[in-house]
Amino acid sequence: MTDAPPTSLDDDPSIGRVLLSEEQLVNRIAELGRQLTQDYAGRAPLLVCVLRGAYVFLTDLARSIDLPVEIDFIAVSSYGATTRTSGVVRLVKDLEVDLTDRDVILVEDIVDTGLTLRYLRRSLEARGPASLEVCALLARESADLEGLGVRYVGFTIPGDFVIGYGLDVGERYRNLRYLAVYEPPDDA
Ligand code: 5GP
Repeated sequence: MTDAPPTSLDDDPSIGRVLLSEEQLVNRIAELGRQLTQDYAGRAPLLVCVLRGAYVFLTDLARSIDLPVEIDFIAVSSYGATTRTSGVVRLVKDLEVDLTDRDVILVEDIVDTGLTLRYLRRSLEARGPASLEVCALLARESADLEGLGVRYVGFTIPGDFVIGYGLDVGERYRNLRYLAVYEPPDDA
C-alpha cells in the first residue's frame, strides 16, 4: 500500500512544533523592509531571490520596501529530496538582469553551512555589481555570519530542520504560513 498524503495540513504528523508564528514573521519582515528602505534610500536595488526556498520571503520583503526595487531569480540546488546536503551546489537557473553597477541584495531563505552562499557570492561578485549584500530570513546559530558577510538576518535559529514559509521537504510544506520543525516519519 502506498502512503496517501494527509488530506489536511492539520492532520500531518510531520509538521512539528511551531518555531516562528505568522505574526512573528510578518512583524520581523516589516522591520527588515524598513531597514532596507533606509539603507538604500535614493537607490533602486535589485532583489535577487534564491529559488525555491526564498520565494515566499521575497514577496513579503519586497512589498515592505518603499523603494523602486527590481526583482530577479536565481535557482541553485544543494539538497536533493532529502534533508541532508549533498555538499555540491549546482546552478539550475541563472539571472536575466545584468548586474553591472547594480546594488544587489541577495535574498536567501536560510544560511546553514554557508556553502550555497559562498557559491552565489562568488558567482554574483564576478559580474561587477556596485554593491552586494545578503538578506537571509533565517540563519543557524552556528553560521559564521560575519565571515560570510551576511548583513541582514530575520531570525537566528538552532539546528532543527525546519519547514514552511517557503521551505520544503521534497517540495511539500512550502505553503505553510508559519515555520515549523520537521518531524520525519518513523521509517525515514
Ligand atoms: P547551506 O548551503 O547554507 O548549507 O544551505 C542552504 C540551503 O539549504 C538553504 O537555502 C535551504 O534550501 C537548505 N536548508 C538548510 N537548512 C534547511 C532547513 O532546516 N529546512 C529546509 N527546508 N531547507 C534547509
